[in-house]
Amino acid sequence: MNKDWQKKALELREEGYSNRAIGRKLGKDESVVRRYFKREVCEVLTPDTIDIKFYGGAPAGGMSYLMPEVSPTIGAKVLFLDLEVSASVVAAFSMFKHFSTPDHIIQFPYILSFACNWLHEPEDNIYAVHLADFEGFEEDHKSDKELVMRLWQFMEEADIVIIQNEGFDRGWFSQRCAYWDLPEPSPYRVCCTLKGLKKAMSLPSNSLGYSTKYFNLGHQKLSHDGISLWIRCMNGEIEALDLMKEYNVGDIPTLRQLYLKIRPWVPNHPNVALYYGDKDGKKRCSVCGSTHLTELESKAYTNLSIFTAYRCDDCGTVKRDGEREKGSSKHYLRAISK
Ligand SMILES: [Zn+2]
Repeated sequence: MNKDWQKKALELREEGYSNRAIGRKLGKDESVVRRYFKREVCEVLTPDTIDIKFYGGAPAGGMSYLMPEVSPTIGAKVLFLDLEVSASVVAAFSMFKHFSTPDHIIQFPYILSFACNWLHEPEDNIYAVHLADFEGFEEDHKSDKELVMRLWQFMEEADIVIIQNEGFDRGWFSQRCAYWDLPEPSPYRVCCTLKGLKKAMSLPSNSLGYSTKYFNLGHQKLSHDGISLWIRCMNGEIEALDLMKEYNVGDIPTLRQLYLKIRPWVPNHPNVALYYGDKDGKKRCSVCGSTHLTELESKAYTNLSIFTAYRCDDCGTVKRDGEREKGSSKHYLRAISK
């Protein structure tokens, strides 16, 4: 619900006042006014709402939150996601060989920002937020509750989430949802490019930075100032959070390009063909959903059967039919189980 000053700020904006002039009139810092408008404009552009039902210590009746617009699409909604988290603050006597126990913790870590992009949208259409983009930042610059709620909405919308390190990003999302008593989102699959690289290839390093350099991808991971940037973010410096967001945003086209490069090779890639249903009865590529398939002369052989193989003309993936070729196992002997 809008506070009085926010209603007044919107009226003044309609009248053509600048953010600075509005701030002066209402006794607010210009950055507070700017951040409010940023949220408000986002909300005006995105009229769809969904409800998040809280559990545990949540406010009764749940809470409505606005969802950024997602273009309608058929097939799977595939989301590229990357998030940045704070460090822990711990008490230490030694600069070397320190071992922390839970009693040493002064501040548990939390999420600072996230950035994401839909596969069905252009590469540069990236949605990114940091803590200072939310109202609660003024009261507690370490609370990631609203940010996690916004992230939850994307996860709720997504069918498949592409992440560079599933253990890290999915783990963080899940633990912060649990922390804030948010329920699990609807089912989604994860495709982890790190796992894909490890299983399918043998790069000396499977990091995003190394692999994008190795494959000469157009977008390469941005560098940052190291721990000092994290400390400034944890002190609530908006300029530092803006830099963190920029760094976070930079990883998304990188992740997207890496994924598109390696997806034909990723073992156990989620089957996107399932998300189209089989209403049109067309064969689809299980990796990209394309119906442009070329039957190969070579067959796919298992120990028991022969299958027709196809190459996807769009992503290059080679897969086999679901049904074996007729008569393929009639005329040979089988091993006997012992
Ligand atoms: Zn394909």
